[in-house]
Amino acid sequence: MLTQDVDDDNESKKRIILLRIQALIMCLYFLAQAGVFLWRSDAELSIIAFALLLAHAAALNMTYHNLGRIVQRYLLFLSWGWIIFYVVMLGWDLGAQHFVFVLLIFACITSHDSVHYKVLEAIILCATRIILYFYTDYHAPIVLITGNYGAAFQILNTVTIFFSATALVLVFSQNSLEMEKKLIQYNERLKEMSSRDSLTGLYNRRRMKEKLQEVVNKQEKKGEFISIAIGDIDFFKKVNDTYGHEAGDTVLKVLADFMDHYMKENGFVGRWGGEEFLFVFTHMNADYAQEKLDALRRSISKIEVPYENTVIRVTMTFGLEEHTYSHDVERTINEADKKLYQGKEKGRNCVVY
Ligand code: GH3
Ligand code: MG
Ligand code: MG
Repeated sequence: MLTQDVDDDNESKKRIILLRIQALIMCLYFLAQAGVFLWRSDAELSIIAFALLLAHAAALNMTYHNLGRIVQRYLLFLSWGWIIFYVVMLGWDLGAQHFVFVLLIFACITSHDSVHYKVLEAIILCATRIILYFYTDYHAPIVLITGNYGAAFQILNTVTIFFSATALVLVFSQNSLEMEKKLIQYNERLKEMSSRDSLTGLYNRRRMKEKLQEVVNKQEKKGEFISIAIGDIDFFKKVNDTYGHEAGDTVLKVLADFMDHYMKENGFVGRWGGEEFLFVFTHMNADYAQEKLDALRRSISKIEVPYENTVIRVTMTFGLEEHTYSHDVERTINEADKKLYQGKEKGRNCVVY
């Protein structure tokens, strides 16, 4: 119950555990307090204790809903409020003011605020305690709790303060492996997101360059074939002009999905620019890649992209080049690009090698 993770990557698991511990201990504290008040047959004070119990239970519940920062603030203000209220109501001798020390620890270890802010919180808590001391010097408690009830209250306060301070500090000083693991996973996900084109979900140009260089470096020693092609959708401007930009986007997505799936067993594909895609055939010479590309070209020309009340069909032209390891990879891409333009001049919907 305490260690259940939240699905917010930016949330530290440790902080959530600390918030839960604090909220839970305070729930138990107010439950016991309500018991003492009921024992004393004090309906009003037991209702207040129950209300505070519910307020802390609400905080506990919020920790399961990605609300770490809000819960932290909420608990801070709630505790500050009830401490002042209790000291004013029940007087200095019952010792509610000692909870400011727990609150100080809580404020320091559960917030991600700057040191300045934490020092300010410490000063406010210190001032609160001093003001309460002088206040109670001049004002008698509204409800005086003495005798066995007073003793029960003292014991309850002391035990709760020690227990909560110990629990908070112990959990806080545990190692941060958990958080580190989370950060690593989050970074990996960010990296993955920054590698992808947002419209089609394919690798973007930057990632394609990286991946291609990785493949070249890996395969160079064995001299394995790599073929590179650039494919460009024919008359794509006309699709946009006729059906609208959104229709154009839909065509791009459908084609991207199809090409991505097709390339799974041949290598990989990425979005190179607007309606241009870069294909990398790993372990394949250009003759073989040409066959694969031609099959892809034919399949694409048969795809019917449904859009509103119509279907859109497009064709693609490809320029293909086999990589030569003595050249850098940009040169191969440029050659593929030149061939793509030859294909366009030849009348489109073809593969040029
Ligand atoms: P060609 O056969 O010579 O390639 O003709 P084309 O019309 O495809 O080529 P051109 O370069 O004239 O036009 C490309 C068009 O692709 C223009 C641009 O608006 C469109 N385009 C580029 N990126 C996107 C996109 O993300 N979404 C949409 N809808 N259109 C795009
Ligand atoms: Mg085009
Ligand atoms: Mg183009």
